[in-house]
Amino acid sequence: MERIEEKLKDIEKEYLELQEGITEYSNNNLKSADLKKRGSKFGIYEQKGKKMMLRLKAVGGELSIEKFKSLAGIMEKEEIPYLHLSTRQNYQLHEVEFERVKDTIEQCNSKEMYFRGGGGNTFRSILVSTYTGVDKRNIFDVMPYARMVENEVFFMDKAFDFGRKLKIGFSNSLDDEFVMAVQDMGFVAKEINGEKGFKVYCGGGMGRGSKIGHVLIEFLPETDLLRAVKALINLFYDRGDRVNRMQARLRFLVEKMGFEGFKKLYLDYFEKETIVNGKIPKIDYEKKVRELKQFDEIENSETFNLWKDICTKETKFKDIVSLVLYVKNGDLSAKDIEKLYILMKDINTPTIRATINQNLVIPLVHKSAIPYIYKYLSETIPEIVTETISIRGQIRACVGAKVCMIGVQDSQSIADAIGDELDQLAKEFPQYRKIIFKEAKNIRISGCPSSCAGVPVAPLGFIGLKKKINDKLVDCMQVYMGGILTDSIQSLAFEIPNLILPIDEIPILVKSLFRDYLEILQVYDITFSNYMYERRLEEF
Ligand code: SF4
Repeated sequence: MERIEEKLKDIEKEYLELQEGITEYSNNNLKSADLKKRGSKFGIYEQKGKKMMLRLKAVGGELSIEKFKSLAGIMEKEEIPYLHLSTRQNYQLHEVEFERVKDTIEQCNSKEMYFRGGGGNTFRSILVSTYTGVDKRNIFDVMPYARMVENEVFFMDKAFDFGRKLKIGFSNSLDDEFVMAVQDMGFVAKEINGEKGFKVYCGGGMGRGSKIGHVLIEFLPETDLLRAVKALINLFYDRGDRVNRMQARLRFLVEKMGFEGFKKLYLDYFEKETIVNGKIPKIDYEKKVRELKQFDEIENSETFNLWKDICTKETKFKDIVSLVLYVKNGDLSAKDIEKLYILMKDINTPTIRATINQNLVIPLVHKSAIPYIYKYLSETIPEIVTETISIRGQIRACVGAKVCMIGVQDSQSIADAIGDELDQLAKEFPQYRKIIFKEAKNIRISGCPSSCAGVPVAPLGFIGLKKKINDKLVDCMQVYMGGILTDSIQSLAFEIPNLILPIDEIPILVKSLFRDYLEILQVYDITFSNYMYERRLEEF
């Protein structure tokens, strides 16, 4: 803690510059781009309507329930209307008034929630498999490793002064292996003869020039983890492109050097690095499981059973499940957070995690608590239940142009319109409602090419742009198909040539693709992801 306080003092000057920048900007004495330079490295960005967004880092999206509650307190005090869950498991405070930014930062820091590396050309927040530690298919829990890396990197100044951002992630099982293959560096848990370690991917990424990464190290012993990360930080600091932003992500360096050349260079850095992290202490989940509260309530309605089937996932512990809370658009008010805190206190669970699908997961819940939770949510935050069972709730869309400064299209309204069309389809084919519901999660919509909703790995994705049609600039979306990451096929989504459609045609296209899919299903058992992969080379 002392070490962190010292570091925060060290970087206080940069926070002050940001605060001064905000004042200058509101007095029209500073350009928006200059304000961005001061704030982005902390994940603090201007939003439309002269407000700010503050992005808090949380390793693997995990917060103790006390920290989660303290967010509500800060939001109420600073009159922050909502918290947004990002696709990288971050917690974003939205529409913060200019004059309240400084206080908000200080309050978050005092609760041990930090902004360093929330955005800009820095070491970004670490992605972690949502169900790590509790998952039945757990190879081993990667959360303590990710935390250790985050805690150490926080003090490495080079990691916050790159030419471009650097993203890493950890997977506890093979289920998320390919999510890790599209990180700058991804670690997948691996055990050989009882020795823990990681398979390491490098050079992947989403966005411009999306790439599936290469296997850099087949087995990295756990004791060398920090050494591996530090070697990458030093290499990227020294060799990353600082001139051409469009070519500055690590994957472009790998491409330029060729993978073998890059690997040789990386291993040189790795050999020179002497830092050792040693063995990492485990998290005691068994103790947390023993403390979970049990309930006697019973519920058997049809909606309850539907909700329960969708939202609960068995864990490796007897009678314990993980529970998904679907959050519409990933937005929560302070009141919602408080209500969720009361619920988590009632069931005596210690943590909550934000997911890459912009939802929340309570990793540990006693099965007997599920009827109680259902009743509580239905009475206090009914949207969480209705959203869970709505098709729209499954579609992943970024915040979009309504709030995002660089957004081109309003992804959220397009997702709403697609949800309506698919609801219609489900009414036509009630026997397929469950399938439509399940497969709707494969639709991803980004309001601009930054692709925050993860279109490059989407079976069916859309990216917002504007196109001249008959001399008029029209609101459009580029269509992508065929992103799939399974054991047998690994493919990024294809940009379908010439398939740039006006936004009002997008829901119709989705409905017709789903209709075709349902027809195929009658003769051929295929997932929607595989189906879209098959169609990716078709002419539309
Ligand atoms: S994809 Fe574009 S519009 Fe959507 S959140 Fe990212 S930057 Fe904003």
